[in-house]
Amino acid sequence: MEIIRDLQNQPMLDEKQLGALLRRHSRDYSGVFSKNLVIRTYRHLCDSGALEPDPALLQRLRMKPTRTISGVAPVTVLTKPYPCPGKCIFCPTDVRMPKSYLSDEPGAMRAEQHEFDPFDQTHARIGTFRDNGHDVDKIELLILGGTWSSYPRDYQEWFVKRCFDAMNGKEANSLEQAQLWNESAWHRNVGLVIETRPDHIDSAEIDWLRNLGVTKVQLGAQSLHDNILDLNKRGHKLSDTRIAMQLLRAAGFKIVLHWMPNLLGSTPDIDRADYDLLWSDVSLRPDEIKIYPCSLLANAELYEYWKRGEYQPYSDDTLIELVAACKLKTPAYCRINRVYRDIPAPNIVVGSTLSNLRQVVQKKLRERGQRCGCIRCREVRGIDIRSKKLILDDLVYQSVSSEEHFLSYNTQNGELAGYLRLSLPEVDSDLNIVEIRGAALVRELHVYGSALPIGENAIGRKTAQHRGLGKRLMYEAEQVAVASGFNLIAVIASVGTREYYRARGYKLSGTYMVKRLDENHEQ
Ligand code: SF4
Ligand SMILES: [Zn+2]
Repeated sequence: MEIIRDLQNQPMLDEKQLGALLRRHSRDYSGVFSKNLVIRTYRHLCDSGALEPDPALLQRLRMKPTRTISGVAPVTVLTKPYPCPGKCIFCPTDVRMPKSYLSDEPGAMRAEQHEFDPFDQTHARIGTFRDNGHDVDKIELLILGGTWSSYPRDYQEWFVKRCFDAMNGKEANSLEQAQLWNESAWHRNVGLVIETRPDHIDSAEIDWLRNLGVTKVQLGAQSLHDNILDLNKRGHKLSDTRIAMQLLRAAGFKIVLHWMPNLLGSTPDIDRADYDLLWSDVSLRPDEIKIYPCSLLANAELYEYWKRGEYQPYSDDTLIELVAACKLKTPAYCRINRVYRDIPAPNIVVGSTLSNLRQVVQKKLRERGQRCGCIRCREVRGIDIRSKKLILDDLVYQSVSSEEHFLSYNTQNGELAGYLRLSLPEVDSDLNIVEIRGAALVRELHVYGSALPIGENAIGRKTAQHRGLGKRLMYEAEQVAVASGFNLIAVIASVGTREYYRARGYKLSGTYMVKRLDENHEQ
């Protein structure tokens, strides 16, 4: 208790002074006071009523603060090892792991410790976030491993339900019940992400994903050249990626594309042209992208090609220049999530092991007076947002079947405080989802800042959340939809955000939150 009082009395301590204070208390009490221990003690005292909650103190003690900088706690879980229908020559095979994962990757090691059990993995990650001082009432659940759509459906349903059970802290009888409970649970699911192949997406699969509560799909496009897809035995064509993206967008999903430069048969020039096509082709234009330069691994078939002299990984310099060029081409509506897959270096036979590639490229761009304009590079960080100084922007771009609006609030310096993706469909889709027929679609609403507990007021805290930005963005989206002739708007809401939309006049219809725009509604 004394150490906590000491910390509260000295709110301006920097990291070094904080360390010295912890060491002094450790000496005085002949024990070791780590930040982690202080956080746990703080939580215990608050839970027992002995201490008033002090969010500012928790914010100062928070370890790895960037983990929840985007406003939600990302919880990553892996599915069990299971064969993938893909035969991709670059993909590693480790029988102990789901296809494409290596047993010494940190996330994979954690999953193995829990024998790939979804409940145990989710529960443990929530505990780690809590112990490190993060708020975990908003969780984005990322389910990784092989091709999700190729796992048996009863396994998929069980897996998702058990993740929900862990977030709810109790066991439901069905997935439906678990989802219902999560609407008011302590740890709410605000995003559910799976990864799959383009040729596994069709109308029926989309119904199924919505039934599970999925809101974001990571799609392995890898290349936009059919001959390169063939050479690497991907087993699908560019046309599959186009169709999958159109269907996913029509259902309101957020789409993360995986793209791999340096595949067999490619060159830096081909990769550059490929990246250009991502943005010039109206059938593509993903919301987020993961750039995974191909790594040469001994347990992948590509290794044999390299031994025969038929394949060569790019040098560090080539890769740096390529990624720098990609960054400059990325439009403002897209977020570059990764530029490198963090494979532990000993697995890479030959080629780049620059795990800090992002930083190296950023430095190079800065030296040239250039900068990446993607969402990630513009996200507001640690700035006290005053909402009245924010500027509204509506970036309009075309997809093959819709007019897309990227509505955002930005600071005067161009930092992104929050955004909303609105899709205005222009053609009827092949989907069977009646509740969104003829509706404008809100595909994403995101407000930046460290995750704040649901309902907590942000005044005085350095975050953009809970300053009414979400509400203002929703209002703007409704105005744009009405002006474009839509009288219905639907949100692909995660089950844990349904209450938020109910409070704004939306009703649950199927798996979407919908609102009529021709009725009087409160703003
Ligand atoms: S589809 Fe994905 S997981 Fe399956 S073999 Fe290809 S890269 Fe690996
Ligand atoms: Zn960027």
